[in-house]
Amino acid sequence: MSRIVVLGAGVCGLATAMMLARDGNDVLVLERDYAPAPSTPEKAWTNWERAGVTQFRLGHLLLPAGRAVLEAELPEALAFLAAAGALRFDFLAGMPPTLADRHARAGDGRFVTLTARRPVLEQALARAAAQQAGLEVRRGVTVAGLKSQPRGTTPHIVGVRLDSGQEIAAQLVVDATGRRSRLPQWLSAVGANAVPEEAEDSGFTYYQRTFRSPDGLVPKLIAPVGSSIGTIMLVTLPADNGTWAVVIATSSGDQPLKRLRDARAWTSVVETCPLHAHWLHGEPITSVQAMGGLIDRRRRLAPGGLPLATGIAAVADAWACTNPSLGRGISHGLRHAQRLRDIVREHVRDPEAFVLAWDHVTEHEMRPFYDDVLAENRFRRGEVDSLRSDSEPPTPDTQTARFVAAAPHDPDVFRAYLETRAALATTREVLERPALVERIDRVTAPAVVPLPGPSRSELLHLLADAPGGRTPRMGARPPHRRRAGAGTA
Ligand SMILES: Cc1cc2nc3c(=O)[nH]c(=O)nc-3n(C[C@H](O)[C@H](O)[C@H](O)COP(=O)(O)OP(=O)(O)OC[C@H]3O[C@@H](n4cnc5c(N)ncnc54)[C@H](O)[C@@H]3O)c2cc1C
Repeated sequence: MSRIVVLGAGVCGLATAMMLARDGNDVLVLERDYAPAPSTPEKAWTNWERAGVTQFRLGHLLLPAGRAVLEAELPEALAFLAAAGALRFDFLAGMPPTLADRHARAGDGRFVTLTARRPVLEQALARAAAQQAGLEVRRGVTVAGLKSQPRGTTPHIVGVRLDSGQEIAAQLVVDATGRRSRLPQWLSAVGANAVPEEAEDSGFTYYQRTFRSPDGLVPKLIAPVGSSIGTIMLVTLPADNGTWAVVIATSSGDQPLKRLRDARAWTSVVETCPLHAHWLHGEPITSVQAMGGLIDRRRRLAPGGLPLATGIAAVADAWACTNPSLGRGISHGLRHAQRLRDIVREHVRDPEAFVLAWDHVTEHEMRPFYDDVLAENRFRRGEVDSLRSDSEPPTPDTQTARFVAAAPHDPDVFRAYLETRAALATTREVLERPALVERIDRVTAPAVVPLPGPSRSELLHLLADAPGGRTPRMGARPPHRRRAGAGTA
């Protein structure tokens, strides 16, 4: 049994801690926010003070890949989620009308998820964590740094230091403090070499609103969850108890579109998208919430196979965070947590072997998913920029373009495409399957028809009279501090 301290009680910190405790480790979670998990999903949505997670009340979708990890490792958390009114959502429900063969197949269950608003999801995990033997969650505790001992040429982490000055010992410290993790500064303070980090602004700003239906039903999906329409992207996120979020994503540099902060302007744009307008048929339970400045960032603790420190691991967003355009953060984080549990099982008694094995898993299994999000995001940013400036669009990777074009016309290709939307596989991974490539080659796909919605000039016209607005950046005071139903600006 090892004493493991997990920093941060977000969704992935809690999941990591539970998996490690189920293996017989003695696990302590330290969380800066003081508020305990509320007793009901509605209280979680309206009252839970979670300043430590800026995106706490913004739309989240748990993808099938994340649901699969919970089902395999933490079924009781999934049971709490279902009991909280989470929505069973089948990605195959978005099957396009162009697909002739609509029969169910063995293995289709992998496209099903159970999803909820983020506070409801986190409350379910917190309830499961409270019942987990060998696990203590201490809230209202801020970690201020690491405690180390020299071991060879690198520091060996032996615990953490709190802002109160108290020290807590650990055989392994797991950083799950999210996208604002200060791990590089903490490691530098104990003498470790600089942590290599790669970071770029995703370049998108998100304007979103959450709704609730009077009958507990969510709108029918008749367009992809993420739909690119000219210079905007519409994302529709069904959730628990008849709630859902609608997001308009724009290029951060698109000044006229900053007027989407105005609720009337925002509504008028969704109304002009015939495949999405019905998502407005509900009571808005938030104002339009805007968020920009979202950084895609990843770091490495054993670059070139040389550990910067031992006794420490970074998991989920603390390792790598991506912008939410593909809704993958939690699913990536849960899979990363599952693999951390495996590596702890094998190597926790050998700190060097542990760091190297963890680096290997992270780089070879998780990084391709990170790279996938960045590649899609960069391409979409290029597309939007070219539409705005009336310049040449970026050239897509030919094979990927043919894959995407063939998906609505072949049931196998469509399922492979869904695997990439559900975070079950990367695009590169599915395109390495010879049978799939043959299948794509056999499809004669007609030219892709753009989804209906406003042209650029119609969009600018719709927004012309709306008041302008400044978009808060990530890390600024969250715009959601209001009770459900109170803010319908
Ligand atoms: C706008 C937006 C929309 C998103 N939408 C989706 C989506 O649809 N689907 C999806 O899967 N993902 C989505 N994500 C990503 C998702 O929110 C993250 O991947 C997820 O929150 C990561 O979980 P985590 O536990 O690693 O970190 P967090 O959830 O960030 O939790 C970190 C915890 O650490 C605590 N902490 C921080 N510092 C300290 C400290 N010094 N001492 C003690 N505790 C500390 C914080 O208080 C917090 O509780 C979205 C992200 C954003 C920004």
